[in-house]
Amino acid sequence: MNASPALTQYQIPLQPDPSAAVAKFLKRPPRLFIGGEWVESKSRERISVVDPATGREIASVADANEADVDRAVAAARKAFESGPWADMLPADRQALLWKLSDLVEKNMDELAELESIDNGKTKFMATVVDVAGTRDYFRYMAGWATRIEGSTFATSIHGPPGVKFHTYTQREPVGVVAQIVPWNFPLAMAAWKLGPALATGCTCILKPAEQTPLTALRLAELIAEAGFPPGVVNVLTGLGETTGAALVAHPGVDKVAFTGSTPVGKLINKSATDTLKRVSLELGGKSPVIVLPDADIDSVIGGAANAIFFNAGQVCCAGTRLFAHKKVFDRVVEGISTAASSIQLGPGLDPKTQMGPLVSREQQERVLGYIESGRKEGATVVAGGETPSSPGFYVKPTVLANVRSDMKVVREEIFGPVLVAQRFEDLDDIAALANDTPYGLAASIWSNDLRAVQRLVPRIRAGTVWVNCHNFVDPNMPFGGFKQSGFGREHGRAVLDLYTELKSVCMAI
Ligand code: ADP
Repeated sequence: MNASPALTQYQIPLQPDPSAAVAKFLKRPPRLFIGGEWVESKSRERISVVDPATGREIASVADANEADVDRAVAAARKAFESGPWADMLPADRQALLWKLSDLVEKNMDELAELESIDNGKTKFMATVVDVAGTRDYFRYMAGWATRIEGSTFATSIHGPPGVKFHTYTQREPVGVVAQIVPWNFPLAMAAWKLGPALATGCTCILKPAEQTPLTALRLAELIAEAGFPPGVVNVLTGLGETTGAALVAHPGVDKVAFTGSTPVGKLINKSATDTLKRVSLELGGKSPVIVLPDADIDSVIGGAANAIFFNAGQVCCAGTRLFAHKKVFDRVVEGISTAASSIQLGPGLDPKTQMGPLVSREQQERVLGYIESGRKEGATVVAGGETPSSPGFYVKPTVLANVRSDMKVVREEIFGPVLVAQRFEDLDDIAALANDTPYGLAASIWSNDLRAVQRLVPRIRAGTVWVNCHNFVDPNMPFGGFKQSGFGREHGRAVLDLYTELKSVCMAI
């Protein structure tokens, strides 16, 4: 079952030069976007931006400090309480979101290239997934701006004689929202946060991850170009433990929306308690891919390989734990390992590349450390397991077999292209195996046995269960976690709950 990789897969080509538009953007001075203006950080500190394919610095951005957070919160508060945004009709917010989505489309090539050299993913993926997804997300959320409703209802309390009541609810924007996003889908995660906030009339302070700040800054330019009033969206680049922590603790922020790791989500939740902010958390995962004995093996192999290797495994809902029935286990693992070994690694701007580097040296070392710990605990490396020779932060797509449920590689989120494969014998055991994790973000079941699938779905403790597919995320489909994968549901009607307060009005008439 040992799939030996063709040597050429791991000879890493050079990163092509960026386009003129991107080269120009990279030279722009480090600035924060506050109150509709590009301003220097009070800290005057810089954060280096590195191309993961080369390990070289390509730009630097401002490192916002507490004074900058104060300024951004004041600008967002002002825009929320007075001025054109506070009075704007929902239809006008909808029009602005459409305008923004058109600008994202118009600048798709540049945004995709920026995302690629900042994050490491291929420009192709950045185009079809990240940037197209961002455009579509703004369009989808634009529709909700004019569909926010409350209800009227009858009351049963007795008032003074002759008095009746007219009672209803209305939804109002939650206020100033701090939005802290991760580095795996930088632009798309910004859209998931900004879209519903802008549809509902909130104002925002967006903090991109320090590893991948570039597309958020370009998006801020497009937000200004679209005509959003000053202060409605502010973008602060900075470190998590300083800029991010200051935003979470700030008394002028009404809500924190966070996507990132579970340990940081816990810190944020604790810190936000002091001011009782609204908090929504989309956190880590360790999603099972469950293959029942009747499954169509060819589609399982392609689907399960994609579930783990898409975006180099840096996906919160990645299918990281494979559970295949003993009847099909060997064939499935062999097929995924062959697929893994044929993936062409390379820099994101090279059109032949199928998988780019991981986002940072730190992430590469972390993932390699997990693979090593798996080896030490007795796992068998069936594919990959190392880094090719390159200054870039690559990790070969890896499959580990002979794993046990108590191993670190099975218990902890790796956030890299590493699959752990376990066999199971009895269908009755599978839900317990799949649920044996602190996480509960997603799962997939592969089978055409309708009865078995229908019986299994309610037993899986996860926010999304896919059947014969994995990683499909639609703006209309609520997304979020059970257990330590967080709380709150993004997308669809459900996201309105995260960005609005429900007010009851009781009128004596
Ligand atoms: P990862 O561990 O994968 O880098 P993180 O959860 O650390 O993911 O990062 C996700 C986002 O959270 C980033 O924007 C990061 O800057 C931010 N962040 C990290 N630590 C904190 C913190 N203590 N408070 C607020 N934000 C933070």
